[in-house]
Amino acid sequence: PQALPPQLDAADQALVDGVRARQLRPLAKTITLIESQRTDHQARAHAVLEALLPHTGGAMRVGISGVPGVGKSTFIEALGLYLIEQGLRVAVLAVDPSSSLTGGSILGDKTRMELLSQNPAAFIRPSPSAGSLGGVAEKTRETMLVCEAAGFDVIIVETVGVGQSETAVANMTDIFCLLQLPNAGDDLQGIKKGIMELADLVVVNKADIDVAATTRAQAQLKTALHMLRPASPNWSPPVLTLSALRKQGIADFWRTVCDYRATMSKSGEFDAKRRHQALAWMWDLIDAGLRARFRSHPQVRSELPELAEAVERGETTPSAAALRLLHHLN
Ligand code: GDP
Repeated sequence: PQALPPQLDAADQALVDGVRARQLRPLAKTITLIESQRTDHQARAHAVLEALLPHTGGAMRVGISGVPGVGKSTFIEALGLYLIEQGLRVAVLAVDPSSSLTGGSILGDKTRMELLSQNPAAFIRPSPSAGSLGGVAEKTRETMLVCEAAGFDVIIVETVGVGQSETAVANMTDIFCLLQLPNAGDDLQGIKKGIMELADLVVVNKADIDVAATTRAQAQLKTALHMLRPASPNWSPPVLTLSALRKQGIADFWRTVCDYRATMSKSGEFDAKRRHQALAWMWDLIDAGLRARFRSHPQVRSELPELAEAVERGETTPSAAALRLLHHLN
């Protein structure tokens, strides 16, 4: 079956045209529509997104993660300004699940990336607060597509080194970069949590503080990465060192990102990864949609508490309870 053509009224067509004309106000308005919880806004957002979809895919999507204080915002500002100097336009998005839980945010409410945010070639959007990581990630992914339709050349998606948000960002970007501190040897940050497996590129920041420690950390991280099976036979994640504060190593970083893109494109893995990500995204949404429908089903709602208790007391098996509840979806 053919996809339904989007139903755009004049106001939404104006949003589409404005985004494609690279105007910031329509861009911001479209993202606000995407982030809205209202059903009518959601429908409009979908229609606008469908219309923009043929114009997406042109950006390099870069994921950046690391623990609070590692220097993410300092690095992203330095990188963003460097890229703008090269004539590129840069969008910075964030996935911060904590913002919806605490109202505050780990990524910080402080004025971040002050110079970059004032630059007309940059667009910075804080994390949506949509209630769940899945919701935040979905909205960020859609925002990324809108930014691509608005002609941004590089989309940086930032997240923090907590929970599942790193997996979500790795699943929506072309290259996932992990920032580390020069004391990596102390506990090999990220290795325990399995984050290292996600990294296509590892960066030791704050190299200016202690050169010897930085070199040591670089060697330790290289060894640790060697023990992991690389995601691609054509790419072993390199470990770079840099100083975001002194803007040293930024060009090197970008050269490595471009190398990655060239290598992965040549082998066909670049496009394959995007196709795989799009399908996985669809299944995520189907899973989430089914779960929501299940939980809101009247009979499920009435039977669930009692059945859950029966399972806890060992009076019925989990599988019998699950089958009985799922039966209501038939
Ligand atoms: P984030 O929480 O990961 O975004 O970290 P920030 O970018 O806010 O940086 C945390 C602190 O580390 C700030 O005081 C920065 O000035 C400092 N910082 C960031 N990068 C460097 C660096 O390369 N060298 C040094 N010495 N300090 C840095």
